[in-house]
Amino acid sequence: MVTGIVYHKKYLEHEQTPTHPERKERLAYTMDQLMEEGIFEDRDIKLIEPFMASEQDVLQVHTQEYVEFLKRESKKGGFIDWDTNIPVGVFEIALLAVGGAIKAADSVLNAEVDNAFAMIRPPGHHAKPYTGAGFCYFNNMAIMVKWLLKKFDRILILDWDAHHGDGTQEIFYNDNRVLYISTHQMPLYPGTGFPYEVGSGEGEGYTINVPLPPGTSDDGYMMVVDEIIEPVAIEFDPDFIAISAGQDNHFTDPITGLALTARGYAELMRRAVELSKKLCKGRLVAILEGGYSVEGALPYTNLGIIAAMAGKDLSCIREPKSYLDELKWRKKDAAVKKLRDNIEEVKKIHSKYWKCLRK
Ligand SMILES: [Zn+2]
Repeated sequence: MVTGIVYHKKYLEHEQTPTHPERKERLAYTMDQLMEEGIFEDRDIKLIEPFMASEQDVLQVHTQEYVEFLKRESKKGGFIDWDTNIPVGVFEIALLAVGGAIKAADSVLNAEVDNAFAMIRPPGHHAKPYTGAGFCYFNNMAIMVKWLLKKFDRILILDWDAHHGDGTQEIFYNDNRVLYISTHQMPLYPGTGFPYEVGSGEGEGYTINVPLPPGTSDDGYMMVVDEIIEPVAIEFDPDFIAISAGQDNHFTDPITGLALTARGYAELMRRAVELSKKLCKGRLVAILEGGYSVEGALPYTNLGIIAAMAGKDLSCIREPKSYLDELKWRKKDAAVKKLRDNIEEVKKIHSKYWKCLRK
């Protein structure tokens, strides 16, 4: 298996404020760790350079008015919401992030690599057609999927960021070519992602939201994979699997309350890779979304994800022992019971649309 990693040092130039959680160290520390592990000397890993997406690419998802607004404000600095400034120059870096996502998909389609991880920023899944939000400017995932829809009819988006990907959901809400499955902490920003949000029109049944109680750990995620994600993915039978790989569900993340470990991430990705081999010739792209534990998590979770994508032995994937005390108070046994109820609710609502959930 050859796994592509899309990265550009320009991704480090985007900064809202030095203390903003979505800051350049997120990628800088990961790159240091990957270098230290000698990842780029491995024959199964290929570093891929992104290109700058065109405004035409972005207009497949975003309105002309919003694109013009962002371009204009990015020249002098501006503001979208309390979490999302418009620093000078962000327009070009956001286009490079979009181009990174498209490049990842293109590298898989032209068989340069088997699968690819777009290690890009700024992230994208809260961005809506008419506005950025929640640290996001352009919806990298949605733009990549629109690009893929010119070639394929059925795309599975799996969004495991700790926050609900409200932007991505909205963009494909009426579309039965795109199955959007999100696992996210509830309650949490942006406050959407209830099981009853199932899509509408032709897209009814093609949005699946699985809310996770705070304290959900590796075993909880595996329950969701076993009981919902895997059976529904098999029934949908996608041509391509696209993952919004947010890493703010790690137990050291400062702005969320979930309890996934680096090993858990690697296992989640291993299962996704298996599914892609079974259903769509291994075609899979993961796009980095959130993840704000810059020292405690990102270097190890990113490594776990890449190792799983490249089919490596995952037994050595773990975060340093010194962090594990935090897991003891973050992981909540009560979360399993609540999650059980949530899973049953999702199954009940979606049994109308998916045969596999009727049993
Ligand atoms: Zn997030």
